Amino acid sequence: MRRINELEINGFTDLRKSLKPKFRNYGKRPTNCLIKPQPQKKPKMTHIRHQLHRMAELSGNEKHTHDFIAEHLRELCPTHLHTNVGGYGVVAAWLTTHTAPTIALRADIDALPIKETLDKDYISATDGVSHKCGHDGHTAILLRTAELIHSLKPHCNTILIFQPEEETGQGARKILDSKILKQYNIDKIFGFHNLPHYDTGCVVIKHNTFAAASIGMTITLQGRPTHAAHPEKGINPTMAVAQIIMMINQECANLSDNPQAVQATPIHTRIGNIAFGTSAGEAQVMYTLRAWNNCNMTATLLHLENEISKICLQHNLTHHIEYCEAFAAVDNSAAEVETIHRAAQKLGMPIQWIDTPFRWSEDFAEYLKHYKGAYFGIGAGTDSLELHHPQYNFNDEIIEPTARLLVECLS
Ligand SMILES: [Zn+2]
Repeated sequence: MRRINELEINGFTDLRKSLKPKFRNYGKRPTNCLIKPQPQKKPKMTHIRHQLHRMAELSGNEKHTHDFIAEHLRELCPTHLHTNVGGYGVVAAWLTTHTAPTIALRADIDALPIKETLDKDYISATDGVSHKCGHDGHTAILLRTAELIHSLKPHCNTILIFQPEEETGQGARKILDSKILKQYNIDKIFGFHNLPHYDTGCVVIKHNTFAAASIGMTITLQGRPTHAAHPEKGINPTMAVAQIIMMINQECANLSDNPQAVQATPIHTRIGNIAFGTSAGEAQVMYTLRAWNNCNMTATLLHLENEISKICLQHNLTHHIEYCEAFAAVDNSAAEVETIHRAAQKLGMPIQWIDTPFRWSEDFAEYLKHYKGAYFGIGAGTDSLELHHPQYNFNDEIIEPTARLLVECLS
């Protein structure tokens, strides 16, 4: 079993000194020019992150990532290690006593169907699949946290959740449905995401809603096709589609204009098929809806369903509505936000409070329906490319400070 060496467990300040060693010796020339400069060895966790990056796997297919995580955790002697949780999830527990609080920390592990264009020696080995949201980095952070838990032995019971299928919004629910977490009486849970455009290592926090609720809505209208020469003999859904689009546009608003609103983004519309001799007989309209409040979302969906029914009745159409990729809003608890705040202060990390929730969604919200907890952001650097950009790459400099922060949240 490997012991953590002194440099790795020194403080955050010392680690920050080691972030950019190449700048410290700038201007000094080697005294013996015959000595070839040795390629710098990657720090252990950076190497692990690059290995995870290379094995990028889509949501629901994270088998190798799962095995890799489980193998590393086994070396760190958790009291319990659960594999294949809700698919390819891994849950590790370090239990101390029944009286100690139980705190869960969660990282997501899946990649995206995006072709990578990075010029690195660790680019994704799978064509068309890559870590463009930084979940490779999140996994490395939680593995480093596991190392720290193993060496520092915090007083509380700790549960680490390595969650698959975040990108499709299914992983958290599958982990919860597995009932593995039930046996641990979790008191609180923390999750995090790297944030491009924020200073490297800056802790981004917010009370109440941190990220939006969202849902995919598909409205299918069924009429009757007929010959294009006699459209009056069929039931063409085109005018109903137009009315539905206008109605949704009126009922919804951009979140930047009205924080209480539900934002509806049209993503796809189809009427009939490409056949010039046929009057269309069916149609589909698809939207992504977003809100910063779960109640607003539910109320708006009911209202839209009502209005759609009225329009369809008016046009003699039948219809049905399907929903997919539903995410609740990430609703932070006040005490747990304060825990992150205090931990960041103690470590001397920069802190940024934000006023407006993020418009993206996170299935971490599912855990917050069951446990008190908080989600925070960690700055990936102002020069970092956007998440999901084909050239985005996780900033390795934030692995250590984020792991330290998570451990500090356990005290
Ligand atoms: Zn992500």
